[in-house]
Amino acid sequence: MASYDVIVIGSGPGGYVAAIRCAQLGLKTACVEGRETLGGTCLNVGCIPSKALLHATHQLHEAEHNFGKMGLKVGAPKVDWSAMRAYKDDTIAQNTKGVEFLFKKNKIDWLKGWGSVPAPGKVRVGDETHEAKNIILATGSEASTLPGVEIDEKTVVTSTGALELPKIPKKMVVIGGGVIGLEMGSVYSRLGTEVTVVEYLDTIVPGMDAEVQKGFQRLLKKQGLTFVTGAAVQSVETLKTKAKVHYKLRKDDSDATLDADVVLVATGRKPYTDGLGLDALGVEMTARGQIATDAQWRTNVDGLYAIGDCVEGPMLAHKAEDEGMAAAEVIAGKHGHVNYGVIPNVIYTHPEVAAVGETEESLKEQGRAYKAGKFNFMGNGRAKANFAADGFVKILADAETDRILGAHIIGPMAGDLIHEICVAMEFGASAEDLALTCHAHPTYSEAVREAALACGDGPIHA
Ligand code: FAD
Repeated sequence: MASYDVIVIGSGPGGYVAAIRCAQLGLKTACVEGRETLGGTCLNVGCIPSKALLHATHQLHEAEHNFGKMGLKVGAPKVDWSAMRAYKDDTIAQNTKGVEFLFKKNKIDWLKGWGSVPAPGKVRVGDETHEAKNIILATGSEASTLPGVEIDEKTVVTSTGALELPKIPKKMVVIGGGVIGLEMGSVYSRLGTEVTVVEYLDTIVPGMDAEVQKGFQRLLKKQGLTFVTGAAVQSVETLKTKAKVHYKLRKDDSDATLDADVVLVATGRKPYTDGLGLDALGVEMTARGQIATDAQWRTNVDGLYAIGDCVEGPMLAHKAEDEGMAAAEVIAGKHGHVNYGVIPNVIYTHPEVAAVGETEESLKEQGRAYKAGKFNFMGNGRAKANFAADGFVKILADAETDRILGAHIIGPMAGDLIHEICVAMEFGASAEDLALTCHAHPTYSEAVREAALACGDGPIHA
């Protein structure tokens, strides 16, 4: 048994970042992780492996569609699927080992095994019970499924199974048109799989700006993905190595069926708190099964904090990281803070999609007067040269004060471009501030400036 200032349970981006910050602030820290490797969902079966496969298949797409246009003559590229998966696994290993290195560097003990909290201030791992002045729960989330749909991780898979398919399927049905479904759908579509996305709502990527939803779906359609929207999946029938997806169209209640070699269930994720003993401790939960906290990530039990996917808010790695740092600072007696109004949301397809802050729909709902400045990548020289001129930047600013309220981008490197707007929003900048900032030419970020100009006297290249 050992005694610590802080024990973090879970080593995902929330937990490992919290542990590092605690150690940096001079607190004796341990982190409990039940997986074989550190890094949580994000590094092992989430952000990192999915981005590796998106990167590899994007290169394939470039070789097939754009190399010839630039005078690059290579034979038709061939996919070695097991080598591509090995590249993905190597990327995971480099990242998880990186966290292990950071733990050693910061003198954080990795308590290997599944942890529980038998009493306030106590953490049990295997046969040992450790003492901690503070405990941070960062146990993350797991894939959720639908009634009538049984996951076997072979024919009917979650994103975890989709990252490990032994062969590239001929036909895939993706249930759920959210970020994870569209990213994995893009990967397989680029590998030659016939991908059909079935979405319950009438649009994909619910919650995003409506113009982005429409434009994005059109671009993905052009890339070969098929969409069935407004469709409620009733059941998935598995027949040896095949499956049938039965759904009802909501507009007329008609029934239909899709055949698939693989069905990816991407209907969202739910908080994971199994085995922690929260019931017995009397920890308050929200109606959606999240651990309830106050604005400083304290639960109703003394010395017990919770962060990341297992609490309220968007299920994003960077949101978990920010909460991890902030909770560590609160424990160390500092002023941890997360600005939930400026959390970017990125889809790593090609083109990428990125958003921050308000949408036109949310502003209309609030009855807030705003202006929208929009610029198409078609007017951006760099994007044209790189065959990346699909999409646009849209900046929303307060009609009166010109303060930036939100931004929505479909286009090349959208996930990087959005941060210029995040910084501007953190500083309370106006669209004019952004428009007056000199942007290097030729860069994609000129499109951001042009959108800011479009909030005022107008863009130059449109
Ligand atoms: P997690 O990363 O889920 O980590 C929790 C850890 O706690 C796990 O390792 C688990 O084993 C451990 N654990 C749980 N209970 C216990 C216990 N009792 N004892 C010991 N250990 C325990 N987000 C992005 O921002 N960008 C992306 O590009 C992105 N892509 C994604 C792609 C996919 C396919 C998926 C599935 C998710 C993706 N996400 C992405 C979401 C992101 O992975 C999560 O938001 C993030 O991992 C949450 O971090 P966390 O620290 O809260 O929990």
